[in-house]
Amino acid sequence: MGGKNLLMVGAGLSGAVIGRHLAELGHKVTVIDARDHIGGNCHTERDGDTGVMVHVYGPHIFHTDDEEVWEYVNRFERFMPYKNRVKTTVGGHVYSLPINLHTINQFYGRAMRPDEAKAFIEEQADTSIDDPQTFEEQALRFVGPDLYEAFFKGYTQKQWGCSPTELPASILKRLPVRFNYDDNYFAHRFQGMPENGYTAMIGRILDHEGIRVELGRKVTRAEAAAYDHVFYSGPLDGWFDYELGRLGYRTLDFERFTHDGDYQGTAVMNYGEVGVPYTRITEHKHFSPWESHEGSVLYREFSRECGPDDIPYYPIRLVDEKEMLSAYVDRAKTERGVSFVGRLGTYRYLDMDVTIREALDAARAWARAEELGETP
Ligand code: UDP
Repeated sequence: MGGKNLLMVGAGLSGAVIGRHLAELGHKVTVIDARDHIGGNCHTERDGDTGVMVHVYGPHIFHTDDEEVWEYVNRFERFMPYKNRVKTTVGGHVYSLPINLHTINQFYGRAMRPDEAKAFIEEQADTSIDDPQTFEEQALRFVGPDLYEAFFKGYTQKQWGCSPTELPASILKRLPVRFNYDDNYFAHRFQGMPENGYTAMIGRILDHEGIRVELGRKVTRAEAAAYDHVFYSGPLDGWFDYELGRLGYRTLDFERFTHDGDYQGTAVMNYGEVGVPYTRITEHKHFSPWESHEGSVLYREFSRECGPDDIPYYPIRLVDEKEMLSAYVDRAKTERGVSFVGRLGTYRYLDMDVTIREALDAARAWARAEELGETP
């Protein structure tokens, strides 16, 4: 069977991984991205003055429990040891995140052991909440009002632009509460940073004789129709020209500044209070602890509602948006010749490892169906 002519809309992780897999199977792959660089929101770039590797669209830390995905990324780039250790500043004090025994003891000025802290937090928690639905219920149920108000309420209000009572519990479920001193933000077995940045890694994934990359232009639906199949990783509602309305996203603004030496001593400092307008400050050189740089590049990160010309980051998935989303999902299912993939294409809050896992699965599923002559 001859190779098919395939189009990847978007040169982020999804487009690169799917494109590579199918190019290796002998298909002809064209990858087109509207931006002038590959890598999507994972894009990294060395700052010309300081030499610091900058996470241009905000911090990306690779972590996974999926062995195949870990092997996959290591095939294209050396991963350096990195543990994400986040701090948060609240009320003029610095605390350790995610909430662990150190945070609890610092916050309450105590010296509790694990069992004591567990019993103590259970006394704070609202155990009358059986099945937490909202972010706030989840927080009150598991850490109680004091820790919720200090660490989650203000930050979440700033990050999502709405009250934690309107957000799903699933957002908070991303964060653990630990009754030991483990301050590793992620509990996954594998964690690390690509030695030369994500863009170098994605560049190597795309580096295959069967793949052609075009940057800096948008793809029209008419153009896409000329291909045998399209993998679309742009915004789901955008493919349908927003006919059913716009799905809500948060976008981020980064206020970049530089500093001589070490500004904050760590990569990520969150700010829990609404009085501080930004959610966090990231100091990029600390994402590459194996490198040494005198100068420093920092981002103050502000979150706001995503307008039509902004870059979408986080799908909001408010409860009252569910109907519009399921109408789009239904249309996507019946759209012939197009697979909707990735964070924007499926309108989900995806970590990088999940994006790669789903991309590999999507590529394999399509290749199997194609062999059987059953491609959608
Ligand atoms: N969060 C918070 N305070 C913090 C860090 C996180 O309230 O100091 C909340 C916030 O709503 C955030 C969610 O927990 O969206 C998930 O946090 P995570 O660090 O996974 O967010 P990411 O930056 O990876 O999207």
